[in-house]
Amino acid sequence: MSTFLAKSFETIVAYNPGEQLGDDYLKLNANESSQEPSPRVLEVLKNAQKLNYYNDPFQSKLRQKLADLHSLEMSNILVGTGADDVLDLIFRTFFERGDKIAFPKITYPFYKGYADTFGYEALEVPLTKDLHVDLSDYEELPHAVLVVNPDAPTGFLKPLSAIKKLVASHPERLVIVDEAYIDFGGESETAISLVNDFSNVIVVRTFSKSRQLAGARIGYAVACKELIKDMEALKMAVNPFNISLLQEEVALASLEDEFHFEKHVKEIIENRDFLTSALRILGFTVLNSKTNFVYASSKVISGAELYEKLRARHILIRHYATEEVKDFVRISIGTKQEMHRLVSEIDAILKEKDHVKSVNF
Ligand SMILES: *Cc1c(COP(=O)(O)O)cnc(C)c1O
Repeated sequence: MSTFLAKSFETIVAYNPGEQLGDDYLKLNANESSQEPSPRVLEVLKNAQKLNYYNDPFQSKLRQKLADLHSLEMSNILVGTGADDVLDLIFRTFFERGDKIAFPKITYPFYKGYADTFGYEALEVPLTKDLHVDLSDYEELPHAVLVVNPDAPTGFLKPLSAIKKLVASHPERLVIVDEAYIDFGGESETAISLVNDFSNVIVVRTFSKSRQLAGARIGYAVACKELIKDMEALKMAVNPFNISLLQEEVALASLEDEFHFEKHVKEIIENRDFLTSALRILGFTVLNSKTNFVYASSKVISGAELYEKLRARHILIRHYATEEVKDFVRISIGTKQEMHRLVSEIDAILKEKDHVKSVNF
């Protein structure tokens, strides 16, 4: 630590991203896609031009394209360097030190990290016994509310009616809905449909998961014009070129290849169904996921042990030691072949445990 570090940052705790151990590991720990994005994206990168000039600080082409996608206007869209960057801009625009933000106790760890770093008061609302976020717990809270739909890390999809009720119950309170995983079967429940009628809801989306572009860093917010205008003002004041020309071109190329997008999403859903049934056959409890990952636990093997044993077999999954969910592991959905390999390794690990037991007896 240098002597120059601002006092308020002395206790910063770093976010702990999924391990990156190299190409000889099967990486199922960060909800990335294990397949390449659209060939059009790769084409754009090969033919990149005009990098000697500054890009459009209003990102008009990309915002218009996203507006068309959601039947809204460009003034309803703000783009950023991944959903994390968009969330950062939302927080900085609408909150200040000491403000209270409510979110589930078990959720995307970024929120708590952000709140702690910038001195917001995090109101962490416990999940129900069966790990659901009960939105009626939030209705009477006068503070800003942040929810993920479908939920992370459980994968549960909440109905739009429940989100709408939350948004409508306190028009003076901001509700942020993080829809990082909505494309994997949750489209009908998107809160984007509320943007025209409510001026207190912001929806956050990303190209990292369903558009296979985690490394390209593209995300966006959708909200009423006034909210977007406020965020835009802050962005234009401190970081007008917040996404690069390459990010904008890559995002456009991805949006122009809906065939590739839909094929990928369909494949992930099929493979998710396969992994869910295969794990249930192996005795796991697997929550009903509408995302590109599953959340599963077993009575035979602890979450920590399964994570360690798979890691020794060069498969990376995610395990959080938090008390309420320490039995669970989160596994990202990959190709059919990868899912078969995973299931046979888990099967082997369970058989090995059985063997140890019978030797002990
Ligand atoms: C992955 C994820 C993000 C971050 O997305 P980026 O666009 O890669 O920054 C945000 N929220 C949730 C819930 C996520 O799972």
